[in-house]
Amino acid sequence: MRYADIVLPVPLPKLFTYEVPNEYHGTLAAGQRVVVSFGKKKLLSGIIFSLHNNKPEAYETKPIISILDDKPIVTLSQLKVWEWMADYYQCTLGEVYKAALPSGLKLESETRIFYNDEFEAETEMPEKTQQILDFLAAKKYSTISEINQFSGLKSCHHIIKQLIELDAVVVNEQLKGSWRPKTEVFLSLHNNVRNENSLRDAFDSLSRAPKQLEVLMLFLQSTGGVSEAMTGKEVLKKELASKAVNSSTAINELIKKEMLVQVKRNVDRLLTSKIENVQKVKTLSPEQDSALQETLKGFDENLPVLLHGVTSSGKTEIYIHLIDQAIKKGQQALYLLPEIALTTQITNRLKAHFGEKLGIYHSKFSDDQRVEVYNNLLNNKSYRVILGVRSSVFLPFSNLGLIIIDEEHENSFKQFDPAPRYHARDVALVLGQGFKSSVLLGTATPSIESYYNVQNNKYRLVELTTRFEGMMMPEIIVVNTREAQRKKMMQSHFSPQLLEHISEALSNKQQVILFQNRRGFAPFMECMSCGWIPKCKHCDVSLTYHKHIHQLICHYCGYSSNVHATCQACESPTLNLKGFGTQKIEEEIGQIFPDASIARMDYDTTRSRKGYENIISGFEQGEYNILVGTQMVTKGLDFDRVSLVGILNADQMLNHPDFRAFEKSFQMMAQVSGRAGRKHKRGTVIIQTSDPEHPVIAKVRSNNYAAFYQEQIEEREQFNYPPFYRIIHLTIKHKNQNVTNQAANYLAGLLRSVFGSRILGPQVPPVNRIQDHHLQRIMIKYERKASPSQVKKLIRDCINQTLANERWKYVQIVNDVDPL
Ligand code: ADP
Ligand code: ZN
Ligand code: ZN
Repeated sequence: MRYADIVLPVPLPKLFTYEVPNEYHGTLAAGQRVVVSFGKKKLLSGIIFSLHNNKPEAYETKPIISILDDKPIVTLSQLKVWEWMADYYQCTLGEVYKAALPSGLKLESETRIFYNDEFEAETEMPEKTQQILDFLAAKKYSTISEINQFSGLKSCHHIIKQLIELDAVVVNEQLKGSWRPKTEVFLSLHNNVRNENSLRDAFDSLSRAPKQLEVLMLFLQSTGGVSEAMTGKEVLKKELASKAVNSSTAINELIKKEMLVQVKRNVDRLLTSKIENVQKVKTLSPEQDSALQETLKGFDENLPVLLHGVTSSGKTEIYIHLIDQAIKKGQQALYLLPEIALTTQITNRLKAHFGEKLGIYHSKFSDDQRVEVYNNLLNNKSYRVILGVRSSVFLPFSNLGLIIIDEEHENSFKQFDPAPRYHARDVALVLGQGFKSSVLLGTATPSIESYYNVQNNKYRLVELTTRFEGMMMPEIIVVNTREAQRKKMMQSHFSPQLLEHISEALSNKQQVILFQNRRGFAPFMECMSCGWIPKCKHCDVSLTYHKHIHQLICHYCGYSSNVHATCQACESPTLNLKGFGTQKIEEEIGQIFPDASIARMDYDTTRSRKGYENIISGFEQGEYNILVGTQMVTKGLDFDRVSLVGILNADQMLNHPDFRAFEKSFQMMAQVSGRAGRKHKRGTVIIQTSDPEHPVIAKVRSNNYAAFYQEQIEEREQFNYPPFYRIIHLTIKHKNQNVTNQAANYLAGLLRSVFGSRILGPQVPPVNRIQDHHLQRIMIKYERKASPSQVKKLIRDCINQTLANERWKYVQIVNDVDPL
């Protein structure tokens, strides 16, 4: 094997062939990381994809510079999934590689500027240049950003260039990896004092050093007693130090006197306290048990199972049984959840059963922690079950027996940006095929696609129709806001019925959830004289008013602007806030119920690491009476005291211009209703709408998923939408609007010559300018029975032909397969 094809983190659609130096012959394998030089000076770390003897004809190969691992860190089954993803989602292996590994495992190159020791200045230098040179001389080497920071310059490039010409510095690419093992310092009793006599002598010698004496006593206590200490038991240094004020000097003295010794050890960042009594799995109710048996039957037929169970029916208990069985068979399990549903609630529930066997993979984890989860699985250490978000489909499993995709209908399983724009549910199914794993999709509101697979016998359906212990489904009241408005009975955004129920719930010490699927205070401002609306400078969207910071903010790019006092078009001082978001609801409900304590949960309040969990645990513990929130409040939360859920504006969801709007509205309304009345008594849901007869609302009210599905599937068939047709979006982007339009028209023309009427557009997307780039979109709709890889190859050819045109060289074409 003299050549290696290597995956590099660059957006070029190919593998790169390098030569294997003689000394590495026979020792390399696919999945190992190597360092190679790329371009003129750049060093990159990449993954060996395959090894072979075929000398490339077109170019001279460069040798691999070094090998970073003794054994592969990416398994063959992972590489297979990567390959499938690159092909299916039309991205490069390099892009998959970037998404798949935590950054700590992807060494990145950085430019280092080295001081030349032999340099002697011949002429005097400008002051700033001399300062930078002295800085480099002292440090030996540094980076551009460090030098900028040191010098206070915006850019030091011109100075570095001069220094290079003078031979004062040498520039080199170096690799840096961010992951380092974490170390802690441990203390134990020194060998010299590990017998009673010498220990007593030691105590005597400390009679005039009371602090040291105190610390030594504390140390012995911490080990659990003298005899434990004699065996060499270790104590964490910082823990001992925390037990007495100002103890560090005393500790160091004891070390100097050879009474204590310290050692540094690598520790696990995710080390959790041992759980002594793991909880046994709960006994299932007869209905749950028969659902479990049917699920196992589906697995025996090698079919994925769709578990359609109403909220609180015990789906999670069934998952726990299945995981338990998989572990007992020596297999691994993956439990996938959308980011937002991965709360302490579910983590604690699984931890109680699986203790140290449970690994968690989460975007709120630091990269170092993610590397440790990755390595734990790779080296087959403690983890048997992974509870994780979409990126956990990239982990190095070796014996994956079970995959659970909970809340399978959730859109957040799909990655929007950057590539790979993958759907974790679909990748998980492919992952499952590779391992021949059993796959379970669970939800109270199945996606149309998954239910269609049931109808076509691709999945087996298992149903749970009642809540655990006969808890009742909530009573759903639909309130006609148009009528209430006409009778002038609305109090700001609340109908009299909703206010009455809130006040009743509050006086019964029950909790209330108010759902408004829009954040901010008001979605836009408008001039009452001329209709002018403040828009983002960089995007074609109106700015949302955020009251607490009194700013207008773009929800697409984050641009913010002061609030204008007068209209920028007609100068009249008649700017008004229109519409309403969570902040406004929070403020208004606070004015109506001044004694109620209110929490708000949306993107703005949950950005910090702990924000989300604090709100949830605060609400759980009854610190708040009312929780106002966006769709975040609809996800898999389990609250005991919520008796009322109010949906403030159902029309907003239903009127969204998208063929999935009804599906999403049904799911959101049904999910948020599921939060009402979970444990003790029947809850109430109030839906405010101007269209109470709307067919989707009728189905939510009667909790009739099957009828809802039937209506939807007929519509999808009639209008050639998924699951009957597959969709690909091509988005064309460029800073110049004409260039965008011309390239889009050209590409659409090429595509039409191949696909005919399956091509729609180009059309400006709903938001047609984002971050100063003008957008056009082409939609390709093709029959389900067509071969996806054939179709995609034809599309690729058309894209390449477009980009080959000199005028459109810098046009970006973004490929979104199965867009949501
Ligand atoms: P789902 O996942 O369908 O929403 P859960 O599994 O969360 O439902 O069940 C709802 C509540 O009922 C949870 O608090 C759960 O612990 C409890 N529960 C469900 N099934 C059982 C059972 N067989 N034994 C004891 N408690 C159960
Ligand atoms: Zn913007
Ligand atoms: Zn105006």
